[in-house]
Amino acid sequence: MTTALQIASAVNAGTSARVAVTAALVKAKADTTNAIIRVHEARALAAADAVDARIKAGEQLPLAGVPIAIKDNLNLQGVEVTACSKILKGYIAPYTATAVERLEAAGAIVVATTNMDEFAMGSSNENSAYGPVKNPVDPTRIPGGSSGGSAAAVAAGIVPLALGSDTGGSIRQPASLCGVVGLKPSYGTVSRYGLIAYGSSLDQIGPLSTTVADTAVALQVMAGKDPRDSTSADRDATGIGSLPADARAALKGLRVGYVAAHEEGLAPGVRARLTAAKEALTAAGAVLVPVTLPHERFAIAVYYILATGEASSNLSRFDGIRYGHRTDSATTLSEVYGKSRVEGFGAEVQRRIMLGTYVLSTGYYDAYYKKAQQVRRKICDDYANAFASCDVLLGPASPTTAFKVGEKTSDPLQMYLSDIFTIATNLAGVPGISVPFGTDEQGLPVGMQLQAPIGNDQRLLAAAAGIEALAL
Ligand code: GLN
Repeated sequence: MTTALQIASAVNAGTSARVAVTAALVKAKADTTNAIIRVHEARALAAADAVDARIKAGEQLPLAGVPIAIKDNLNLQGVEVTACSKILKGYIAPYTATAVERLEAAGAIVVATTNMDEFAMGSSNENSAYGPVKNPVDPTRIPGGSSGGSAAAVAAGIVPLALGSDTGGSIRQPASLCGVVGLKPSYGTVSRYGLIAYGSSLDQIGPLSTTVADTAVALQVMAGKDPRDSTSADRDATGIGSLPADARAALKGLRVGYVAAHEEGLAPGVRARLTAAKEALTAAGAVLVPVTLPHERFAIAVYYILATGEASSNLSRFDGIRYGHRTDSATTLSEVYGKSRVEGFGAEVQRRIMLGTYVLSTGYYDAYYKKAQQVRRKICDDYANAFASCDVLLGPASPTTAFKVGEKTSDPLQMYLSDIFTIATNLAGVPGISVPFGTDEQGLPVGMQLQAPIGNDQRLLAAAAGIEALAL
């Protein structure tokens, strides 16, 4: 498929932005995977004309005329945004998320909104009020989640670039299962302003695309301090998306850490690709360094305490009064709150709100929330120790390839284990990326994950471009 950079270079050279945008609109309307839940035709065509006018006036734009799709938890002014929850049905965004605003200013054109797990809670996109998404590689399988719609939209060739959000793996895991690139930047690299919050200390917006170069240019455009998000980092983002001219050659001498324990419990096809990645890296002159992350085994437990605690607080604003759905069968105010929430939230979201309010409650706070915070600190320290002897970390993005629709829906714990390799990244705030690295014995995509120290997104992208070159 045509990449974002190829489209931008054609549009900068005078091809009308309408060409790529119209093609994407046609594909979005013909989508058979349920990745696309809303098409923004009139808005997109008007935006294409505005980009054409800017190019005619002499501007050159890094994403000129590139059609993009955004996850349904990103605000886009004047457009319905629901986080794929019934509770937000009919809610119109009053402003646009900073990340989207910056992409649009760089010439990108939002053509569609993508499906997701409700409020970004899930690993298979089966928790959506709009129904499940099919994996374009094999429609009997899930695309991963929660940004399953964004990953499927890119994998199906509808758009070259999409935005997702990642709280515990929601960009990298679906990217891995759909065979596309997916980046979770360092915490604070991209502003969260306008992202419907799930776990605020973990959430990051990031791109999904077919190439590392497209992801790099999207990150370059989105990165940098935003006065409207006090947790956006003050780090200098100049050159954050610049890649080495020869990514393969740049691997020479790179110290690539790996955790031997990660090989346990991997599906055989994933393990074979991990071995192949290590061999290819060694052949390219990288140095493999064994490291340990001793507290990583607690990451899922810690995550489901902290993320649900934060979610229960973030989701308390959906009370039937201020946003979206309000019950029509209440006689008292407290019934308005209770019934609106019971009617509006899906089962998984209700489960997490209950877990979250429990761990934050008086009497249990010290035993759960505080303890989890202490272990989170240990996980951060583990990463710091590991990065003392390596430049990047290599491992699988997901323990398995895409599983069948319905396979794990009745067992939340099995579902939670899908993110075993991606969750610690968010707890530590470090950047992580999944890069396609071949397929398993059934032809299903396998993604390799790379991680780097916090604030080293550029180093991560450079190594990812190297892995991408080795995968060819
Ligand atoms: N699958 C994890 C969860 O259900 C992570 C989701 C995410 O990153 N938003 O919470």
